[in-house]
Parts: sequence; C-alpha cells; structure tokens
Amino acid sequence: MDLWFTEKQTNTLGLSLKVLRTLVTEHTQFQDLAVLETEQYGRMLVLDGIIQTTTADEFVYHEMITHVALFTHKDPKTVAIIGGGDGGAVREVVKHPGVERVVLVEIDERVVAASRQYLPEIAAGLSDERVEVRFEDGIRHIRENKGVYDVVIVDSTDPIGAAVGLFSAEFYADIYESLKDDGIMVAQTESPFHNQDLIRKSFSAIRDLFPITRLYLAYVPTYPSGMWSFTIASKENDPLSVPMDRFINIPTKYYTPQIHFAAFTLPQLVGQMLQG
Ligand code: SAM
Repeated sequence: MDLWFTEKQTNTLGLSLKVLRTLVTEHTQFQDLAVLETEQYGRMLVLDGIIQTTTADEFVYHEMITHVALFTHKDPKTVAIIGGGDGGAVREVVKHPGVERVVLVEIDERVVAASRQYLPEIAAGLSDERVEVRFEDGIRHIRENKGVYDVVIVDSTDPIGAAVGLFSAEFYADIYESLKDDGIMVAQTESPFHNQDLIRKSFSAIRDLFPITRLYLAYVPTYPSGMWSFTIASKENDPLSVPMDRFINIPTKYYTPQIHFAAFTLPQLVGQMLQG
C-alpha cells in the first residue's frame, strides 16, 4: 500500500513524501510528535504536522545554524541552544574543540527522547560530556541568565505555540543581555518566499539591539521553498571579517569557509526585504 505524508506548507501548497513506516506518533504535553521513515529523505521528525528535520538533509541546517557563529566568535567556550531537541545543532557545536560547555534548553522532553531513540545519528552529540540538557522554557532560561554565553543559537520550531515568544523583540533583548561583551546570537528565521513579514520584523528587532546584524541563506530541500534564512547578530566580530586562519578543519558536508562568506550574498528579493 502507498502511504504518503503531506506537510501543508501553506493553505494551497504541500510537500508529500512516501512513507515506508511510522516509527512513533504521540501527543506530548506541548505538541504532536511523529518520527516517520520516508523513502526519499530517510527518517523524519515531524512536530504538529511540520517537518523539523530528516536524516538526508539535516546536515545543511545544522551545520549552517552553528558554524557560521562559532567561527565568527574568536574563542567560543559557552554556548546555549534554545530548542534544538533533535540534537543536530549540539552535534555540530561539539565539533569545536575549544567549546567547554553547551546548554541545550528544550521545552519538550519527548523530542529529545524520540530523537535519541529513532534519530541516533542526529542526537549523538547529546551524550558529549560538555553538554547539559535542560527541559525548560528557553525564554525564561535566557531571561534568567545574564552575561554568561559566548554564543546563543535559537533552533526553534515555527512561531506557533511555545515558540511564538522565540521570535519576539523582548526575547532578542534578553539574548543580548545573556551574552558576554563579545557575544553572538543566531536564529533560524524561516523562508524568504513564505515568511517575508517575519523576516523583516525579526531582522529589524535584532538590528535595533546589535551593532552587527546580517542575514544569510542555506538550501534545505524539505523546508518550505527550500531557501532558508538565518539571522546572525554580533556585539563585536563581523561574520564577514573572519580571518582564514580561524577556520580549523572540522568534518562537514555543506559548510566550508567559502560557503561561510558566500551565504551572505543575498538575492535581490531578500536584500530588498531587509532595507528600511
Ligand atoms: N530545525 C527545526 C526547524 O526549523 O524546523 C527546529 C528544530 S527543533 C526540533 C525545535 C524545538 O524547539 C522543538 O523540539 C520544540 O519543542 C522546541 N521549542 C519550541 N518552543 C520552545 C521554547 N519556548 N523553549 C524551548 N524549546 C522550545
């Protein structure tokens, strides 16, 4: 029998994948969770009907949400990841030998449990001894921790339910306070094709706080439109001025020093979105 999963990306557009088997479905305290095995993209984590990650293309998103900020910072030691319960961002952060502490703040314990069980290649980094996993609201955690982090990574779901506040100006202001004097934040900011208002609002709220704010892109096949944006903001170091000798060799499949810089070259439609 042919079984298909469709993510309704908008009211008039969907992405469908043929499903080989369903590994788990459950209602957690916060959302509906599923892990499906698909023919084309391998295992896939779905929350509230929205694809979070697949084993075939997750490396693009996870490498790009981490390494750009970690190489921009001169010496990142303490990193917070807000959301990111699949562990993919953690796996990339712990590739940096200078990092001493990674705090993953995930609101939903069940996302971490399901990822450890069904997506072990993504969740592997969660067992690194430098990693502390906290099950709490990332908004509160950031508000209550001031001046402690070198890098804060916002690896959130779409702005629905518990994640709405992760796109607010108040949260960005709290991130600014949670960072040290040379701190850097990066947030996933959705698709330039589908989420122009969100990108404009979050970029302008972040730019009002940080002296250096930039948007960059990566190509994630299973995310709406495939074109995905990230907003990086820094108190001191510019991601476009990273000296070449800072790029130590780490194993990656998408990120390279050349991609680091190229990702900031924006198509006209995206550049125009950020003006004003
Ligand atoms: N890469 C993904 C994407 O863009 O689709 C997101 C990955 S990750 C699975 C997102 C996580 O953010 C979810 O597990 C969700 O439970 C978590 N989350 C949502 N709101 C949160 C909050 N307020 N505090 C901490 N974690 C939150």
